[in-house]
Amino acid sequence: MKAVRVHTPGGPEVLTYEDVPAPTPKAGEAVVKIDAAGLNYIDVYFRTGQYKAELPVTLGMEAGGTVTAVGPNVTEVKVGDKVAYTGVPGAYAELAAVPAQRLVVLPAGVATRQGAAAMLQGMTAQYLACSTWPLKSGDTCLVHAAAGGVGLLLCQIARMRGARVLGTVSTEDKAGLAREAGAHEVILYTKQDFEAEVKRLTDGKGVQVVYDSVGKTTFDKGFNCLAPRGMMVLYGQSSGPVGMFDPQVLNQKGSVFLTRPSLFHYIATRADLLARAGEVLGWIRDGKLKLRTEFEFPLKDAAEAHRALEGRRTTGKVLLKP
Ligand code: NDP
Repeated sequence: MKAVRVHTPGGPEVLTYEDVPAPTPKAGEAVVKIDAAGLNYIDVYFRTGQYKAELPVTLGMEAGGTVTAVGPNVTEVKVGDKVAYTGVPGAYAELAAVPAQRLVVLPAGVATRQGAAAMLQGMTAQYLACSTWPLKSGDTCLVHAAAGGVGLLLCQIARMRGARVLGTVSTEDKAGLAREAGAHEVILYTKQDFEAEVKRLTDGKGVQVVYDSVGKTTFDKGFNCLAPRGMMVLYGQSSGPVGMFDPQVLNQKGSVFLTRPSLFHYIATRADLLARAGEVLGWIRDGKLKLRTEFEFPLKDAAEAHRALEGRRTTGKVLLKP
């Protein structure tokens, strides 16, 4: 079968489309024929070596498809089930062997392509808005990169929970998408000083929570946007890592909180996985959460897809089709 692997960390050019042996399921595993794999920023971190993997590695942490074989002791799924998953490396491929514990059977009315687009970024937006800082009416949040994969979903979920949503984006086009997704106000952080804008838009009060996936270029200023006892949720580093941090800053900025969460700790148990996926996929089935999947590339063009994501040319989800 075909897969996209990395033999040496580096730029998009190190992504190699090649033949590898087709997987057979071990005990507890199911083989999934992949209809679509999700591209996520974490794939960039693994490709460049910012996050370490044993090489060669087949990239990709998310996919949707059909179960074609199951190993011994599998009770969660059966052959023919339409499923989606995240958190298991190896999705940039035609087939993947996945621990059945990590598979979610899609509800009727949700396609495998939608499953591939929803699992990682959808459950991330869900845990950020519903668990890390459970947004409520009266809260104002700041969502950086509001037209990105997580961003568009987070705007929608934050709005559903009754919060006031301020979003940042780099272009006017992206601003339109963030507004459509529910942002009440959008700040062009490439042209405007987002700290001054947040203060203006909140009458100097600040926001209860900053959801920051951008990192290096936004992190420090984000603290000046927080209301006392608010929370900085640093969940990514699309512009680069933030470096060392002095906890005294938390005191100076108003007894604020800092967390650096990962989806994989929020879906560590099967019960957590099924609860979060069930909520997200249910919203999609019911038309309450809209996926934007305009960017789709053949799997063999994974390098081009990475260039588009890193070049800030994508919005919403990017999918790879084997
Ligand atoms: P996005 O679709 O959000 O793409 C990244 C966006 O970041 C760009 O479109 C761009 O939006 C913005 N950006 C700002 N500065 C830069 C820069 N220097 N280079 C590139 N992009 C920049 O990606 P994802 O939705 O896949 O992921 C968003 C972030 O969330 C990533 O950092 C990822 O690691 C993180 N993440 C974390 C998870 C967790 O559990 N901790 C889970 C899932 C994702 P604009 O042009 O508007 O500035």
